[in-house]
Amino acid sequence: MRPIQMVDTKTQYQKIKTEVDKAVLEVMESSAFINGKPVHDFAASLSSYLGVKHSIPCANGTDALQIAMMALGLQPGDEVITPSFTYIATTEVIALLRLTPVFVEVDAKTFCIDPAALEKAITPKTKAIVPVHLYGHAAPMEEIMSIAQKHNLFVIEDNAQAIGCDYTFSDGTKKKTGSIGHIGATSFYPSKNLGAFGDGGAIFTNDDELAAKMKMVANHGQSRQYYHDMVGCNSRLDSIQAAILNIKLQHLDEYAAARRKAADFYDQAFAGNPKITTPYRAAYSNHVFHQYTVLLEGVNRNGLKEFLAEHKIPAMIYYPVPGHKQKMFEQFNVASAPMPVTDWLTERVISFPIHTELDEEQLNFISSKILAYINQ
Ligand SMILES: *Cc1c(COP(=O)(O)O)cnc(C)c1O
Repeated sequence: MRPIQMVDTKTQYQKIKTEVDKAVLEVMESSAFINGKPVHDFAASLSSYLGVKHSIPCANGTDALQIAMMALGLQPGDEVITPSFTYIATTEVIALLRLTPVFVEVDAKTFCIDPAALEKAITPKTKAIVPVHLYGHAAPMEEIMSIAQKHNLFVIEDNAQAIGCDYTFSDGTKKKTGSIGHIGATSFYPSKNLGAFGDGGAIFTNDDELAAKMKMVANHGQSRQYYHDMVGCNSRLDSIQAAILNIKLQHLDEYAAARRKAADFYDQAFAGNPKITTPYRAAYSNHVFHQYTVLLEGVNRNGLKEFLAEHKIPAMIYYPVPGHKQKMFEQFNVASAPMPVTDWLTERVISFPIHTELDEEQLNFISSKILAYINQ
């Protein structure tokens, strides 16, 4: 049996090695390392894949969120509503820009922002909402957009974990996550569903003005060469990364299918077990399984993790400390807000290996070891 990893980017690379190596070599020979043709080609392919007017590649997913918030002209003290149950990058950027993060609960089934909690948290200072499509499952965008419209708020989708996910509206219309809010932000960190061979990120929008502003922000606030109209930052995607991503984008749907197949296998293996709640799949979202995350009930989570490690099976806790309990946010008085759902999830989640290269032998081995521990 091949060794089991949380993510197997090496085997995935072997399958597209000829194409990738050729594309990388071409960039090296052109020596257009920054802003080369592959960057423009990739932006165009990404826009057409997502069904958006503009895609702006940048250096990483954290920058993507930051550029989005800077382009919206949010001011210090403006409140930005976001789930507490997410990766730190989402919430850190809000605080970095001296905006006020307002943490709200997630839905215990979808792990994504709870629209009722979101609406309750809105104040006259609220300017934006940042829903996160956590683990590859879409947040309830239809409800979020209608709340945002009612209260005149911006929506920035954190799509770092869900690129390729389809969202189906109640009238049957389908859109890709990241293309629904005013701005979508994503990451091409190597372990993400569309992963580069280094860092990368992008922002998307259908709004021409916002697109122009985001391009400017990402390029030192420059309107034309050496004329800087606003304070920006320096955030670029390398030509080499763009060339690789352009090839991998063509495989993204196939990658999602492979992840779903592995998830189906686990779902079946754990079906009916009262100690494991398998990932919920809302009818509106076709889960792309960035993570396969279950809830444990009456199981010693650390014990399971250690038992699996003894059998060379990795498992991870995403995330052990939610935003409202991070020291970084103490200044925002977050500790006073009770978050029973988030706390409850934080204590019970565990993520098992999921990626595009898992075979049946590995899946069998992993699930049988998990069950052996749980049913002992
Ligand atoms: C990975 C990730 C980010 C940040 O992406 P980087 O490319 O690592 O900066 C932001 N939000 C979420 C939900 C993520 O998973």
